[in-house]
Amino acid sequence: MSDYNWCHGPNCHTYQTQSRVRGSGDNKVLRTIKIKQGGSYRTHEQYSMFNYFCNQSCLMDFIRTHLQSIVAIAPRREALETPIKIEKEKYESYRYRHNEKGEYERMPYQATRTTINRVDNDNG
Ligand SMILES: [Zn+2]
Repeated sequence: MSDYNWCHGPNCHTYQTQSRVRGSGDNKVLRTIKIKQGGSYRTHEQYSMFNYFCNQSCLMDFIRTHLQSIVAIAPRREALETPIKIEKEKYESYRYRHNEKGEYERMPYQATRTTINRVDNDNG
């Protein structure tokens, strides 16, 4: 396996940056960015897409160009659902307001906290 990838962005070689300039004299070109592999943070799962794209623009160019093919890999024909329980919990809170003297005043009020909890199907 090679220790680098060429950026997969379809327009990578057209962006006018110094990092893409190659060649000499009258034979200069803008070249697709080479992405070294095995770097420290790039191998982390969160950044693995950047093993194939030099930046977010090239990633989005790729997605725009190949969107229909990408979606066809895992088509979504029905909505999915996640069972939940909604808990509403009342609690004492405070809000601040100006009183007649132009001072801030702490006013207690009954607030409601809404929590969405997943329901594990296996436990009924
Ligand atoms: Zn690129």
